[in-house]
Amino acid sequence: MLLLLLLPISFLTFTSACPPPFNDVRFIGNSTHSTADLVQAALHNNNKDKRWVDVVSKPGTALTVWPGPIHYCFGTPEARRVIEPFLLKAWAIWTEALVVQHGLELSEYPFKAKWRYCYKEQTGSDKTLTWNPDVKADTLVIRFNDNPDDPPFWTTLGYRPSSLDKDPGRHSMEIHPKAISEACDQDSATKTIAHELGHVFGLYHEHQRPDRDLYVAFQCKNLAGYDNAVKLVAEAGGVHTMKQVCNDVGLARKYKFWEIADFHTIETPPILLNYPEREYDTESIMHYHSFYCVDQSKDMNDIKSMPLAAWLVDIEECDNLPSVKDENTNFIFEADEPSAGDIERIAFLYPAK
Ligand SMILES: [Zn+2]
Repeated sequence: MLLLLLLPISFLTFTSACPPPFNDVRFIGNSTHSTADLVQAALHNNNKDKRWVDVVSKPGTALTVWPGPIHYCFGTPEARRVIEPFLLKAWAIWTEALVVQHGLELSEYPFKAKWRYCYKEQTGSDKTLTWNPDVKADTLVIRFNDNPDDPPFWTTLGYRPSSLDKDPGRHSMEIHPKAISEACDQDSATKTIAHELGHVFGLYHEHQRPDRDLYVAFQCKNLAGYDNAVKLVAEAGGVHTMKQVCNDVGLARKYKFWEIADFHTIETPPILLNYPEREYDTESIMHYHSFYCVDQSKDMNDIKSMPLAAWLVDIEECDNLPSVKDENTNFIFEADEPSAGDIERIAFLYPAK
């Protein structure tokens, strides 16, 4: 019950230490509740037999699928100019892959006025962004965010019903201006936005599934923030082990190990992470590739240096994992498009009407 009371509280996740391209999901707010906190709050109810699809469709839960067409608006003309071409290409990646019957719709907010932005037109020197009253409050805002403490790409997960939150701008995709202009290649920026769209639709990171250790080797020591966390743990008297820190997003945060927020497993799957009997999908567009958040001092050709690698051997139990070697693991590469499993999930979540 206590957990359910947390539902209306927004949360943040922390990922700013990772090098781009990087992405994350969050709800905007002033709380420090992590994704995991909220998800667990959303899913820990009294009926353990409930499958997640029942949970997500239950009115009042924190996260749901979008109830109708997803409309987006750009924060500013500059955001439209820079981001729109990538957004359209990213959406085309999805629509080309969506060869099954489905009800997912994404389009720009149907503005009636000449000014077609989420915020009112700015005049004079006042740079305060004020919500455009012509735009419905649940519209997805696509905007620039140049806060250096935020990751290059941030996106909210799924839909937050107005019974919990009526705030305009509560659904957003935020992109650091340099994340696109300084991306190594334009295809990569497009693919990252396609991944972010997956979060908009409600898909969560595949590699944070609770059973992921059976399919991928997670080598925490290779993450960018690991060495610093080791130092901070020692300075704090060594009351925690790094094994504990690597598996607990709350502890990790205590030791400024922000990367864990996107790598720890989530005990109870976030809303749309799983549906029953779905196979683990290393090809999902929602799965990080091996190089995400890797400590840049590591050897990029060595699988033993990667935070994530795919097991080539059958893993029976997570308590007794083999050590990572060239012969028993493969690199995971960035997905070019949604996998068959992603498409199946979308069709399931957004059935054709
Ligand atoms: Zn992501």
